[in-house]
Amino acid sequence: IARKRFGQNFLQDPQIVADIVGAVNPPRDGQVVEIGPGLGALTVPLMARVDHLHVVEIDRDLIARLKKQYPKDKLTIHEGDALEFDFGQLGPNLQIVGNLPYNISTPLLFHLASFAPMVRDMHFMLQKEVVERMVALPGESEYSRLSVMLQYRFYMDWLLDVPPESFDPAPKVDSAVVRLIPRPQEELTAKDPALLEKVVQAAFSQRRKMLRNTLKELGGEAWLEAHGIKPTARAEDVPVADYIALANSLVKPEN
Ligand code: SAM
Repeated sequence: IARKRFGQNFLQDPQIVADIVGAVNPPRDGQVVEIGPGLGALTVPLMARVDHLHVVEIDRDLIARLKKQYPKDKLTIHEGDALEFDFGQLGPNLQIVGNLPYNISTPLLFHLASFAPMVRDMHFMLQKEVVERMVALPGESEYSRLSVMLQYRFYMDWLLDVPPESFDPAPKVDSAVVRLIPRPQEELTAKDPALLEKVVQAAFSQRRKMLRNTLKELGGEAWLEAHGIKPTARAEDVPVADYIALANSLVKPEN
């Protein structure tokens, strides 16, 4: 019954389920939301740990099943697209959990990143390659826009590797579980997050090109020079903190 277009691969390994729920370790009165409960592999053990659980699910048939199985006072089902869901309404101190639909994982991670101030932590199952990009450091080939935009808001821990056989149907790729914890707000603050996004996007849009070229239009050249970043540097050489400093240097002072 799994629907490909909704990225449905249902977790069926009880040890992995136990490891994930153990890692989330929610307090009984915690605010927890699960993205994509599916057939309930994580939902059921999470419900056993908390007084009340929220889930966001897009598939009407799965929603109908969940409604039949679990009472409203235990489970709130938000019907719709997690890409458009306002997670902020459930915070503060929100724990977000999910074996995410892999087909939308990158846009979903960008969407979720915007709720960092309302979040206590997030635990996600993702395609292993995506986790590699999330945690990649400058100089590594996986270092990308996703690395910068997530690392500027979160500390990340790679928790476990999960083989295809742990799912039904088995995905074609390896998976991994990662934990994201928001950085203290005073660390690495972008004055204008949209501008940071623009700079990082421009830098990595042609990652093999030199930064002084990709950032010319945004006016980043002078900053690169002033901060001793080699004129030949490429997007993948620049640490997160430097992207933020660069973007902050381009913010026009308010009148
Ligand atoms: N949590 C279940 C498990 O571990 O077995 C299911 C995980 S499955 C990989 C992804 C789940 O996300 C499915 O239930 C799917 O219907 C749901 N989903 C897919 N796209 C979604 C979206 N845009 N918004 C909310 N849920 C979505």
